[in-house]
Amino acid sequence: MKIPFDNSYARLPERFFARTSPVRVPEPALIAWNEALSAELNILADPSDTSLLARVFSGNQLPEGADPVAQAYAGHQFGQFVPQLGDGRAVLLGEVVDQHGQRRDIQLKGAGRTPFSRGGDGRAPIGPVLREYLVSEAMHALGVPTTRALAAVRTGESVFRDYAQPGAIITRIAASHIRIGTFQYFAARGDQEALNTLVDHSLARHYPDALPQAPKEMPASMVLLEQVVARQAQLVAHWMSLGFIHGVMNTDNMTISGETIDYGPCAFMEQYDPQTVFSAIDRDGRYAWHNQPRIAQWNLARLAEALLNANDDPSSALPEAERLIGSFMPQYEAAWRQRMGGKLGLHQLDESDDALIQQLLDELYQQQADFTQSFHQLIARRTHAQAPTVVSAQWLSAWLDRLAQADTTVDEQVAVMRQSSPSVIPRNHLVAEVIAAAEDDADYAPFQRLLAVVTAPQHAPEDARLMQPAEPQERVFRTFCGT
Ligand code: AMP
Ligand code: MG
Repeated sequence: MKIPFDNSYARLPERFFARTSPVRVPEPALIAWNEALSAELNILADPSDTSLLARVFSGNQLPEGADPVAQAYAGHQFGQFVPQLGDGRAVLLGEVVDQHGQRRDIQLKGAGRTPFSRGGDGRAPIGPVLREYLVSEAMHALGVPTTRALAAVRTGESVFRDYAQPGAIITRIAASHIRIGTFQYFAARGDQEALNTLVDHSLARHYPDALPQAPKEMPASMVLLEQVVARQAQLVAHWMSLGFIHGVMNTDNMTISGETIDYGPCAFMEQYDPQTVFSAIDRDGRYAWHNQPRIAQWNLARLAEALLNANDDPSSALPEAERLIGSFMPQYEAAWRQRMGGKLGLHQLDESDDALIQQLLDELYQQQADFTQSFHQLIARRTHAQAPTVVSAQWLSAWLDRLAQADTTVDEQVAVMRQSSPSVIPRNHLVAEVIAAAEDDADYAPFQRLLAVVTAPQHAPEDARLMQPAEPQERVFRTFCGT
């Protein structure tokens, strides 16, 4: 096996990480290997040599050129600042430059204790590993910026949470694992030099064109903030338009690359209700579906505070930081309007369409309608005049009038609707079923079947049940981080 490592993060100053090694596991066995992604990453590996893949992606055999580190970071967890978190159960093996010239991290999650583990065991149960694999790959197929899954390996060890579960390790690929919390870590220590190093590293890595194009008087820290605000506004609008609920939007779980990260208790909303929460630890609904834009802005304000400390005189950059944080909601709203417009077959939207969108959502709420399926009904109405059941005659005629005014053909309208509303999302009860089969019977075939379906989200699967919302007795109301 050959992985063309080039480890830029491990070349940063020592206080950015702790050198560490994955802790050996007794019996590594491959569950899943993402051949297409490995090719994209320029990894040379024989997919039929599953025992070598299992050894490498469990951490038992370090590939040549790896320089394993646990990254340091802090974070606000449910609003409470924790000055030191860090990779407590993850190890960054290193980075590669992919086929598109993009630098990507290769990280083992569940690889054993590190200097940041605190009381934890450094391990991951199989349930969260399979959930992350399925949902991150589904999100990618849906066009949402996200970390990816390269491999999943069983460890042959039990992990004890509420009960003993099989242990597993996921190999996570990310544009980087730099989080808002990484900046907070250095800001909390008054380490201005490290903040500037991290700003420069982040700009060079994720936004190489931003600094040359920015006004000369704008500090690099604010140039970075502007980029992150813009990316996160797009990202969260995309989540919202798919009914995705992240579940634990702590500042350590928000990247500066704009990729979705940390698929702990995440889930897709079925029945439309803006207050929907799945995470068992989110008792006040802080991270409910409708709160996500507000929370993203709150997190970005914490990033802004940290970034101010990169400047000799932090207060000098304050007006700029406030302006940028204030620009989040208008950017988010424009992105949301664009996404929802697509779901309604509209290419161009303006503020006057907000009422049409809101009226639709109000009716879906009253009807307790499935968020994803409701838009399929609208597609069916536009393609073969099949009457929808989830909206009123009044809303329907307002919508059809609006479409008639647009200067697009019906075919163009239907194309954007299909593009914006997938046939398949990884519904929670289906994810729970494949996890149960893996946990109880070591049966991974259901996982592979669901993975194939959710990574082709525009195709209606043969088994129509995979598109349907949960039956009342199948519904899953609570999800768990599994940490
Ligand atoms: P998460 O909920 O996965 O975002 O993790 C939050 C923090 O807890 C991070 O610092 C993790 O590294 C740490 N953590 C989570 N689970 C474990 C575990 N099993 N062992 C050690 N640290 C953990
Ligand atoms: Mg995390």
